[in-house]
Amino acid sequence: MAKTPREPLKPETRLVTAGRDTEAQHGFVNPPVFHASTVLYPTAADQVAHRARYQYGRRGTPTSEALENALGALEGDNCAGVALLPSGLAAIATALMTVAGAGDHVLVTDSVYRPTRSFCDGVFRRMGVETSYYDPLIGADIAALFKPNTRAVFVEAPGSQSFEMQDVPAIAQVAHAKGAVVLMDNTWATPLYFRALDKGVDLSIQAGTKYIGGHSDLMFGCVAANAALLPKLRDTVHALGLCVGPDDMYLALRGLRTLAVRLKRHFESGLTVARWLARRPEVARVLHPALESDPGHAIWKRDFTGACGLFSVVLKPVSQRAVFAFMDALTLFGLGYSWGGFESLVISFDCTDYRTATRWAPGGPTLRFHIGLEDPDDLIADLDKAFAAMRAAA
Ligand SMILES: *Cc1c(COP(=O)(O)O)cnc(C)c1O
Repeated sequence: MAKTPREPLKPETRLVTAGRDTEAQHGFVNPPVFHASTVLYPTAADQVAHRARYQYGRRGTPTSEALENALGALEGDNCAGVALLPSGLAAIATALMTVAGAGDHVLVTDSVYRPTRSFCDGVFRRMGVETSYYDPLIGADIAALFKPNTRAVFVEAPGSQSFEMQDVPAIAQVAHAKGAVVLMDNTWATPLYFRALDKGVDLSIQAGTKYIGGHSDLMFGCVAANAALLPKLRDTVHALGLCVGPDDMYLALRGLRTLAVRLKRHFESGLTVARWLARRPEVARVLHPALESDPGHAIWKRDFTGACGLFSVVLKPVSQRAVFAFMDALTLFGLGYSWGGFESLVISFDCTDYRTATRWAPGGPTLRFHIGLEDPDDLIADLDKAFAAMRAAA
């Protein structure tokens, strides 16, 4: 007989136990990977009635179920189910299409992940959905932006690249009072550090490509839904024919088992490096809500239980040549976009061109860092050498 753990379990324990059925796995620790399209029905009557535990590869396999169960266990009691998508952006687009259609209006934070904005300004507009962008710091004042046809508010905290914190519970309270739902991109904190569905979010989205995968070798996304929205979410996923390849689902499940220990290390090392950067003479500001000096710190402390390894830095004014000299001198930081893997990264970014509800004027060049699992002492030594290269080029 397989043993069943005694509930209730803490999130870190659930990450280890969820989505595993030792008996069905012939005693092996991990579930098998089903490469599957066709399902054979036992009899003609069963086939005509679609009577089988699984009906079609795209609509679910034991592999997708194991991953959905493991992800759901992490989201808490308000999660009715999780949909799996082939990327984080596919998860965002699917969640948005679940809640709005022709003639509807949605409110999206001005600090949103840029491809989310592209979806709203492109496909969503062509579908007849109107998007208004709002100041991420708006809080309960978002009430003034609602129209009779506002169906949803999209939040992302902290903001993509710019790291503004949002008062998600306050926004959710207003949205629900107005009969709208709340969608959140929760990739930064993950449900381990921000329990979105417990804070009033109706659909919580993660780019599993980032920390769930954790090894820079996987594209994956997921949407966790409350009971009210799950049927419509599933219906949208099925109608669009979206599904994830079995080996990628397996990688996501494998990544989940170590998510808590990896995130803890990203959190600690990220703060160590952020504090060191904040003391550098070349740095004007570090944008990291877990730092006491950050304007979003009070909200972070109230609502979040941790931070990942991603934050930004505003440099004091310096030439682009000097910034590039800094980036090119780094040997432990790759110059790459998709974060959440074990390795450290840096990119140069600029939000000035595309913001519409707020003005982005940081006062100096901006860099986004991802702090990986390396020893932070080595990362700091690498950054120190790069600052020397920057000064030499200035
Ligand atoms: C990377 C990212 C996405 C998109 O995920 P993909 O899997 O790359 O499509 C969405 N939101 C945030 C905040 C991200 O960082």
